[in-house]
Amino acid sequence: MRGEFPIAFDDSKRPKGVTKMAISKCPRGCDNAQFELVRQDHIKGANQPMCFVQCTSCNTVIGVTDFYDTAKLLEKIARKVGIPDLLDY
Ligand SMILES: [Zn+2]
Repeated sequence: MRGEFPIAFDDSKRPKGVTKMAISKCPRGCDNAQFELVRQDHIKGANQPMCFVQCTSCNTVIGVTDFYDTAKLLEKIARKVGIPDLLDY
């Protein structure tokens, strides 16, 4: 299943002085440098949806991450209990 995901990388929050990272390419050898998050709802042993990070060209899975944005969830909880600057860096 493809669609909107709560996890996103904000390049504007990169610390000052840190240059851009090297461009990652598909490890399978298709030379593609584009990846996407693809929701997986039925992974044996998982009690919640997960996201595969996969090549947009050949669909090789190169990583797995939580479907839910844990950092955003912690930020919401921190604000609710009165710690507004928890994730500012
Ligand atoms: Zn590929």
